[in-house]
Amino acid sequence: PGEQLPADKTKPTLVVLGSGWGATSFLKSLDTEEYNVVVISPRNYFLFSPLLPSVTVGTLEPRSIIQPTRYITRHKKRAVQVYEAEARDVDPINKTVTFQDLSDIRGEAGSVTINYDYLVYAVGCENQTFGIKGVKEHACFLKELSDADKIRQRLLDCVETAAFRDQDEKEIDRLMHMVVVGGGPTGVEYAGELHDFLIDDLRKWYPEIADRLRITLIEALPNVLPAFSKQLIQYTESTFKENKIDVLTRTMVKDVQADRVVVQDANKEMREIPYGLLVWATGNTSREITRNLMAKLPRTQTQRRGIEVDDYLQMNGAPGIYAVGDCTATAYAPTAQVASQQGMFLANMFGKMGQKMRAERQLQELKAEGGAAAVEAVEGLEKKVTRYSKLTPFHYSHQGSLAYIGSEKAIADLPLFNGNVASGGGAAMIFWRSAYVSTLYSVRNRTLVLADWMKVKIFGRDVSRE
Ligand code: FAD
Ligand code: NAD
Repeated sequence: PGEQLPADKTKPTLVVLGSGWGATSFLKSLDTEEYNVVVISPRNYFLFSPLLPSVTVGTLEPRSIIQPTRYITRHKKRAVQVYEAEARDVDPINKTVTFQDLSDIRGEAGSVTINYDYLVYAVGCENQTFGIKGVKEHACFLKELSDADKIRQRLLDCVETAAFRDQDEKEIDRLMHMVVVGGGPTGVEYAGELHDFLIDDLRKWYPEIADRLRITLIEALPNVLPAFSKQLIQYTESTFKENKIDVLTRTMVKDVQADRVVVQDANKEMREIPYGLLVWATGNTSREITRNLMAKLPRTQTQRRGIEVDDYLQMNGAPGIYAVGDCTATAYAPTAQVASQQGMFLANMFGKMGQKMRAERQLQELKAEGGAAAVEAVEGLEKKVTRYSKLTPFHYSHQGSLAYIGSEKAIADLPLFNGNVASGGGAAMIFWRSAYVSTLYSVRNRTLVLADWMKVKIFGRDVSRE
């Protein structure tokens, strides 16, 4: 068992864990000719996360921003095995991966262990809660497609319940209070989308209560968007003020209950904030499988943030394992931009390694044949081997940061002309839209996203609750 396509015993097995930014950009650029490639991920599709906040209010439909992983692998030169499964364990000493189908419908196959020669580790991160009580039970995260759908459903449930006949006034205020924790780009973009929904749609469909809706963004630091330039932070904060989004800075959530959060405010005083919907966006932490893998290499893996890699993205202390994206601890921010550049870099490197293996194989065959005619060919192949042996370290090229902040405004921090050009407003919004549309991986996704934007412009967002 386990000896399935595309096994070719003369070729090394390359296992890819994940189907997010890192794994997908790797798979897209990889030349599979010289490897038996196996992809394992509990999600059988790629999710274009930058547009996820737009799904929470129905600006975009969920399926417009995803693409099946098989869409990429089916066009490869050699067949690629794709398994919808969760990797449960990686053994860096014996070079094995154990994985399991954890979806609702499971067959007879339980847990499977396979050997790898190379492992591309791109499992991303999970949501950070800092161990704060009640977050997992009561808050909505914003990371997966199912999270965005849950937010959309709960938001509409709050609005419908607030509009229910004879609803208590205090209860209406609570239900119509949408609280966002975390003033990073995820929290800011969500608050912006929510504001658009209020202005464009809620007022039309629920005129009796729409203006009771309040949005509060809670951030522990002195300002939102710490990674953006000062000018853009101010622009965002003043836009939020105009849009009546309350920003509570220097305020830390300490406890989460079913209908309220307990915060410590700027004066170190504790108070309660009732909410109808709570969205939690306080960043990333390592997955359990990553923590377990690192624990097996205690001398070389010492960072709490994630996996330490060398200049070629090889995991320190684990020959054959290459790690990319949010699961790593590098000098770069955990962004899609970094993960996709790392994936592309690795694909290039594996391409070179594959060509080197092919040239070496041909060289051996020629040498075995012998004869005068082979001499010249041998020389050419030896040069090829030397050329493919030269690998250059990973270099990240920052293309800038973009974020949508609502009311058709976006902010852009662009590293142009040797300095940062910061821009905000309508022009940045057009730039934001075109940058994301052009980054979408397929014509199908581009068409769907453009059609959704047009649909919303003409008909507004759909407020039906599934
Ligand atoms: P991910 O893309 O998270 O992929 C991880 C993959 O691993 C997933 O397919 C997951 O299903 C799979 N997986 C999980 N556990 C296992 C397991 N046990 N075994 C196998 N597979 C597993 N970045 C930007 O640069 N620009 C943006 O505009 C931007 N917007 C964002 C908006 C939101 C709402 C969010 C949440 C993030 C945004 N980011 C953005 C950050 C960006 O999404 C991440 O940095 C990026 O996804 C990291 O890529 P990754 O491949 O490391 O992880
Ligand atoms: P983040 O780590 O960037 O921000 C989380 C924020 O939550 C921090 O500012 C932190 O101070 C705050 N926080 C933490 N605990 C808190 C508490 N108890 N109470 C109140 N505030 C608290 O997280 P993110 O926004 O999810 O982003 C994650 C990564 O994804 C980042 O690297 C980001 O750049 C990237 N991302 C980029 C974009 C974009 O470029 N448009 C959009 C989304 C995410």
